[in-house]
Amino acid sequence: MIIKPKVRGFVCVTAHPAGCAAHVDEWISHVRSKGPVPNGPRKALVIGASTGYGLASRITAAFGSGAGTLGVFFERPSEDGRTATPGWYNSVGFTKAARSAGLYAQNINGDAFSDEIKAQALETIRRDMGQVDLVVYSLASPRRTHPRTGAVHKSVLKPVGSAYTNKTVDTDKGVVSTVTIEPANEREIADTVAVMGGEDWEMWMKALSDAGLLARGARSVAYSYIGPAVTWAIYKNGTIGLAKNDLERAARGIDSLLARNGGGRAVISVNKALVTQASSAIPVVPLYISILYRVMKENGTHEGCIEQMRRLFATQLYADAGPRLDESGRVRVDDLEMRPDVQGSVARIWPDVTTENLRALTDIAGYRSEFLKLFGFGMAGIDYDAEAEPQVPMP
Ligand code: NAD
Repeated sequence: MIIKPKVRGFVCVTAHPAGCAAHVDEWISHVRSKGPVPNGPRKALVIGASTGYGLASRITAAFGSGAGTLGVFFERPSEDGRTATPGWYNSVGFTKAARSAGLYAQNINGDAFSDEIKAQALETIRRDMGQVDLVVYSLASPRRTHPRTGAVHKSVLKPVGSAYTNKTVDTDKGVVSTVTIEPANEREIADTVAVMGGEDWEMWMKALSDAGLLARGARSVAYSYIGPAVTWAIYKNGTIGLAKNDLERAARGIDSLLARNGGGRAVISVNKALVTQASSAIPVVPLYISILYRVMKENGTHEGCIEQMRRLFATQLYADAGPRLDESGRVRVDDLEMRPDVQGSVARIWPDVTTENLRALTDIAGYRSEFLKLFGFGMAGIDYDAEAEPQVPMP
């Protein structure tokens, strides 16, 4: 079939197999061009490995440090004339590239929140890897079926306490409007914490530890976001922010567990706001990202997922001196985003943006092309008018 983008609001319902593979290759080339990450991971489990920060972590572990990787993700293969989700094609591309570089790469596609997928991962590690020395926890999910209670928790992106009104952009239509989001109720807050908080990360780490599958000195990292005041009501102080506080709570417990296991560590890395499938669903944030990209590209500090993760591994997680932590014990690779000059520029542009001047004042064009790249579109060297086979088996 001929595969073209079909954008519906903040999702694209098609993905291009060769385009996704090319996108993965681009990220691999970046890591290769930067040279090895010394003393990096040897065997990594990456939970949420198929897109965004998790995929970038996996690529950095594999192509920066020569790590064997087990990737866990929840993606849909091609069926009934529909393309697969991009994470499927990305993982096919990654696995082929890693294996041809002589690296171990295995995948588990299924619900990481379930006992069944955890058991499969444990079994795969025991059989193929022996132990892992790095666990990356990078899930972004709208729902979680709790493995003990069977309850289905749905996460929401809402403010807490009072309604929040701000500008937002429909990135597909290019229309800037004002949005008011009503505050979450107690149930929605608890559900969001259940999905995006730290309990599942703790369950993974306990299961790995109990099974003796963590190498001595093993490390773990999970990702968070803070951002500027203009997004706090919807992010840092909203339902997702409360879930991230719970992730930090979990990090402290996991850090103690790993410290007892030969001096390992668990940290939260606060990453930059970037276009991913997860972030495009958050109101207000895509407008912020469009302005941020313009400012950071202009001053030469712009980074994407792969630049962020390569820098995280090389200068923080596996730096000789160990990670440098902020006052709350977190690693910060959002440092360039949060620079006062960058945030000052964003704050100056923010009130002036309208539908009419969106293209002039923001990098909405860059946002859109990054968004399409997530689905394998707009990659150089791919003929999008040519027939493409959507059914690509996982190697
Ligand atoms: P993403 O949507 O690109 O990736 C999510 C990953 O989770 C995919 O691999 C997906 O397959 C997997 N996944 C989702 N549900 C699953 C399930 N039930 N079982 C197994 N796998 C499942 O998201 P992302 O933006 O890379 O986010 C990853 C982490 O980084 C999140 O914790 C997010 O909050 C954080 N973060 C994101 C940003 C940003 O701007 N995008 C910034 C800072 C931190």
